[in-house]
Amino acid sequence: MNHGNNSWTSFAIFCSSSGRLTSNCSFKKCHFLQKQVHYLGHIVSAEGIQPDDRKLEAVRNYPVPTSVKHFRAFVGLCSYYRRFVKSFASIAHPLTHLTKKDVHFQWGPEQQLAFETLKERLTSPPILAYPDFTSSFILATDASGCGVGAVLSQLHDGKEHPVAYASRALNKAEMNYSATELELLAIVYAVNYFHQYLWGSHFTIITDHAALRYLHQMKDSNSRIMRWSLLLEEYAYTPKYKKGTINSNADGLSRAFAVVETLSSDQFIAQQAQDSFCNRVKNTPKYCNTGDGVLAKHTRQGLRIVVPSSLRLKVLALNHSTPQGGHCGHRKTYQAASSKYFWPGMAKDVASFVRRCPQCALVKDHGRVKPPMGKFNDPKQAFEAISIDIVGPLPPTPDGFKYILTVIDQFSRFVQFYALKTQTAEEIAQKISCPLL
Ligand SMILES: [Zn+2]
Repeated sequence: MNHGNNSWTSFAIFCSSSGRLTSNCSFKKCHFLQKQVHYLGHIVSAEGIQPDDRKLEAVRNYPVPTSVKHFRAFVGLCSYYRRFVKSFASIAHPLTHLTKKDVHFQWGPEQQLAFETLKERLTSPPILAYPDFTSSFILATDASGCGVGAVLSQLHDGKEHPVAYASRALNKAEMNYSATELELLAIVYAVNYFHQYLWGSHFTIITDHAALRYLHQMKDSNSRIMRWSLLLEEYAYTPKYKKGTINSNADGLSRAFAVVETLSSDQFIAQQAQDSFCNRVKNTPKYCNTGDGVLAKHTRQGLRIVVPSSLRLKVLALNHSTPQGGHCGHRKTYQAASSKYFWPGMAKDVASFVRRCPQCALVKDHGRVKPPMGKFNDPKQAFEAISIDIVGPLPPTPDGFKYILTVIDQFSRFVQFYALKTQTAEEIAQKISCPLL
């Protein structure tokens, strides 16, 4: 091993201490002066740690699972090496989702894609560098709609080398967090996870959102944020903000599998067979069939399902108009759709779909010019002009009142409050038309 003198010193200490111990070590089982050793399914060498080839062979040759038991074995095998896989939790989400109680075991294209991506990632894993406690760490974090992830790395000769990856899926409550809160959750999770590496020394946090800025603004108003803020205060770090596209280290495939509602493999296969584009490209080098027969394209980011024209609207709707799609803008919608699917001219189609979305048109004001503030004429007498406002909904009273209607007379500034059960025009009209006092 490379640490020359160090390993001899450790060896000498080991020999002298084992002499004092009552137990003996079998020299048959000991290996000295080896370039690399196999240890608990890993290969430990001068360069770093990597999974054992013999175990990876099992992953590589793993057939598509047909039963829950078979399938759990695969997830378990992959999980053992999760620290070698960037965004493991998010990639594996369509698979781990199937292991939950009350979830029907159904193998669709998302599961197939996750299965193949995991195999691919695990059969070419990075070599994780040994941590060097004399130089500082870099922690890159990321969050998506289904998981949080982080990469701990260090600079060696000006290049960033990963020391470990960590990721986990979100629980039910966390799925309701806002994007900023999720980014913060990722930081808190990662700092906790890598506590042994980070505590007591200075490190850099790279995050793709101004989450830490938010932390300082919000900590007084939310107990969860307050707790996170206190936790992070124990650490000495410098935040570094990067946009999602640049922070590809932790970002990667983490957003790939956020859509839960899905199209089945059979639907894809049937429609692809009738589609002229699919038929034209299917035997060209960049295209291939996934294990279950769905046509996919090799892109620089990985395999993407080729969407026949008949299913494009459905895919767009899934990625924009469903609760998972969240009616995001065209960039985010494209990001979500293109992380799993491909068709020519996709970006344009996404932009035009989002522009035409009726719900978005109702809610979002796309560059609409707001009229300037108007001016009221000064009233000459009491109750010539009144202003009204509604507060609520508040916790309901035993009689079912939930709102407070405030009425202010513009002339005298006389204020009157009314309890309301609903915000309907009828109820409000009834209240303000009844005689005052
Ligand atoms: Zn929309």
